Amino acid sequence: MPRVAPPDVDRAAASRAAVAARRARAAVKHAVATRERSATDVVDAAWKDEPVPAEASLRVTELLSSIPGIGPIRVSRILDELNIATSKRVGGLGSRQRNRLREWLQEREHNDGAGTTRLVVLAGPTAVGKGTVSTFIRENYPHVHLSVSATTRKPRPGEIDGVNYYFVTDEEFDRMEAEGRMLETATVHNAHRYGTPRQPIEEALAQGKSVLLEIDIQGARAVKRAMPEALLIFLLPPTWEELVRRLIGRGTEDSAEQARRLVTAKVELAAQDEFDYKVINHDVSEAAQEVVDLLGMPSRA
Ligand code: 5GP
Repeated sequence: MPRVAPPDVDRAAASRAAVAARRARAAVKHAVATRERSATDVVDAAWKDEPVPAEASLRVTELLSSIPGIGPIRVSRILDELNIATSKRVGGLGSRQRNRLREWLQEREHNDGAGTTRLVVLAGPTAVGKGTVSTFIRENYPHVHLSVSATTRKPRPGEIDGVNYYFVTDEEFDRMEAEGRMLETATVHNAHRYGTPRQPIEEALAQGKSVLLEIDIQGARAVKRAMPEALLIFLLPPTWEELVRRLIGRGTEDSAEQARRLVTAKVELAAQDEFDYKVINHDVSEAAQEVVDLLGMPSRA
């Protein structure tokens, strides 16, 4: 039997209704994004005896990603954690999923504000690309407060004092340490000293900003001891072969130093399970986005 097409008038009405529904969903997302409405309020409207259609037909993915500070990578982690499929609409959740989602949202709303301010440490083995990821973040996410370390090593071509590092003498470094101005210090690759100045971090956190530290693994452990609320991210290479290729390819170390660093990298990789999150550096911009997501900050526009 040939299918009978609906009359034109019905089709036009259906498409008008679809446009209106999309607009209504967009308005809900906008209200959540601007904190005019809480996400809990939205789910409650969707789960009433007579559900509000815009709220009920919103996908859980859309609801979560409209919450300030939650980017796409966190959305998929949260959905995994709550055991909710990406295609699910708020109104279509089962009762256990509803309970889990509501509890999660309430917890997040409770911690919103000062609680979301974060100290995030990005560490990982030598040559994994931590520096490249943090440079990408500095250039593309100006709202992220990136800590500037002090070091006793000499600047490389293109590095700027006060931007990449504070380049200091051994004596200045000693003084900063003695005066308690360092959150942590370490001698890296048995060569130069590096340290994280404490004051800029404390000031940024007090102003409600999230702070990112790109330091080595010993530094990450020291920060966790000093500030247990810090979130530790371990940057991983896609494979060991890729790490070797990056270390040799960048040509900044001679072959004896390369061999030494590869031994260190093996030891460093073994520390990955001490970290809260692992991010694989397949692609610099994606890894950077993932790190920024974990800072609980808005994505790049
Ligand atoms: P580079 O000299 O290549 O810039 O950095 C060498 C290593 O020192 C990298 O692993 C980098 O993460 C680490 N590093 C940079 N700043 C600090 C710091 O303030 N503290 C610690 N512990 N490590 C740092």
